[in-house]
Amino acid sequence: MAQQRNATAAVQDEDWRLQGQDWLREELLRYRAYAPAKAGSEHDHCEFCWTPFRSRPQQGAASEGYVTQDRRWICETCYEDFKLMFDWIVEI
Ligand SMILES: [Zn+2]
Repeated sequence: MAQQRNATAAVQDEDWRLQGQDWLREELLRYRAYAPAKAGSEHDHCEFCWTPFRSRPQQGAASEGYVTQDRRWICETCYEDFKLMFDWIVEI
């Protein structure tokens, strides 16, 4: 019966990644290859699961994802899991 749960029900409010990121609600996101704000200073991470972002693909890191206008990054997995909850707008 678990298979019948729809996408909205799959992520519960008590998901460990949710830490009250209300500032990300209805944000305008763009899908981009990761690039640090300053060359050589790659310390960005997913706003939800803390997966690090790196410009070169590597184990345990994301090299592309969704970025807000103030350069906060969201990995693809978290985007898919939380897009309905946060009403994001994606600009191509
Ligand atoms: Zn994430």
